[in-house]
Amino acid sequence: MIKAIRGTRDLLPPDTDLWNRVEAKVRDVFARYNFHEIRTPIFEDTQLFARGVGEETDIVTKEMFTWMDARRYSEKELIFEWIAIHSPSAFAQVEKKLFFDLVAEVDGRTNVVEFMSGVPNDSSWRGAVGRLRSAKAIWQQAEPNTEARLVVPSSKRSSTLRKPTEHLGIIYEEIELKDYEEPHSLTLRPENTAGVVRAYIEHGLDKRGTLQKLYYIGPQFRRERPQKGRYRQFYQIGAEIIGPPSAGSDSPILDAELLEMLAALLNEVGLRGWTLQLNSVGCSDDRARYNQALRSALEPVVATMCADCQRRAETNPLRVLDCKVPEDQPIIEKLPKIGEYLDEPCRVHFQVMRAMLDAVGVPYIINERMVRGLDYYTRTTFEFTHGDLGAQSAVLGGGRYDGLSESLDGPKAPGIGFAIGEDRLILALQAEGVTADADLDAYITPLGAGMNAHALKLARELRRAGVSADLGDETFRLKKSFEAAEKAGARFIVIVGENEVKSGEFAVKELASGTQENVARDRLAEFLRHSQ
Ligand code: AMP
Repeated sequence: MIKAIRGTRDLLPPDTDLWNRVEAKVRDVFARYNFHEIRTPIFEDTQLFARGVGEETDIVTKEMFTWMDARRYSEKELIFEWIAIHSPSAFAQVEKKLFFDLVAEVDGRTNVVEFMSGVPNDSSWRGAVGRLRSAKAIWQQAEPNTEARLVVPSSKRSSTLRKPTEHLGIIYEEIELKDYEEPHSLTLRPENTAGVVRAYIEHGLDKRGTLQKLYYIGPQFRRERPQKGRYRQFYQIGAEIIGPPSAGSDSPILDAELLEMLAALLNEVGLRGWTLQLNSVGCSDDRARYNQALRSALEPVVATMCADCQRRAETNPLRVLDCKVPEDQPIIEKLPKIGEYLDEPCRVHFQVMRAMLDAVGVPYIINERMVRGLDYYTRTTFEFTHGDLGAQSAVLGGGRYDGLSESLDGPKAPGIGFAIGEDRLILALQAEGVTADADLDAYITPLGAGMNAHALKLARELRRAGVSADLGDETFRLKKSFEAAEKAGARFIVIVGENEVKSGEFAVKELASGTQENVARDRLAEFLRHSQ
């Protein structure tokens, strides 16, 4: 049996009802705060994440789904091209089981030729060379002058395009194809901020001169060790506020507004037990000084730490704070704190933002250890955690990224954003007992032979009038219909028998209370929709 890939999962009803309810509520909140949706591609150039998220982050070093995307060319196309170039005086197409494609006479010499439809990688290259060398040896017994030739597609622009060269007794030849595409390293997006900022730069959204308030909902991919609350395909609901400094994009009021919106959003979807943890990681100068302080503090102890920390202590000491190895924690506890290294503007930014949060009554705690696992953050960083989520307690994370646009060759465009882990938000809601209310208004029961068409007609009328309805079958006994209605979570059952159709009055029973009344056909939709 073929199963879903490890770390991915199917979302099924009734869970999907809760997912949809959450997404509808979230879209409603975003609209009230004047955010608009952006949809970026699910895969991007690998460089975007390497540069945007940071080379030394766990995401980039270990967790990305990356592949070389190369077009496969048809071998026929290559063979025709090759024949057109060489005009061999005689050739024969050879059966595939002989492991090469063609025997041809080129410039008076016999050639055994293999064509490769893609760019060779190490193993396909070794395989082809092996096969061709044995073919050459066999063919040489009859025709001592035989050459072996490997032909691969290439482009004019390709720096590797050369005259046929000989190596290990094989002629290696690149054939120029008009529609050649260079192989390209692509990556499934592990997060969405880099993609949004890329789109902001690519479409010149800075020229609009206003703050761009953008949100997204969609899957992200990280090759993490799967466990509850941690998946390889997971979903994020995120938002970014980004724009030129002239539009106020670096003002602390945006940080406060975004956090206030998040508090409102979580409250409105019905989540109660959340905690906002807040920190400031300063600007790049502060980070440089802090990294220096960390380096010095780590120097005498780093030899006892894990291999990752030893590497990070060299390349990017801030990332040592991401370490989860229990034995390293006592050392990490004693490291200097970033708060002591903030310059005056960063300190004031943080203070002003906190004062605004206090003014609107959003509760938070300061966590100076929280530096977040992505390199682009500056100044404000935050996480909302939830007590029922166990080890994976962060429901969402985010922060400011004032230098990200410039590091991707864009204009100066300070920004702030967050990403909610939707899988974890749903787990936390379910842990608090929140479910999506069943919203089936009516179960329609055709009673007796010949009633199906009448029931279908009534269902069509009701559904058009905005009633959600499900339908039974005339062969069901009344008891079975009631059971089906209850299982479906319907509020009412409507009986469609011969008498009802004739009189135009239908027996309607409320399942919860058991009360029954007759309702006229033209009042039925209103009755089912509005009665609670
Ligand atoms: P990050 O982009 O790492 O700041 O993550 C933001 C949020 O996405 C986290 O707080 C989690 O709720 C969620 N998240 C990150 N990685 C995963 C994962 N592998 N599985 C499920 N949720 C995740």
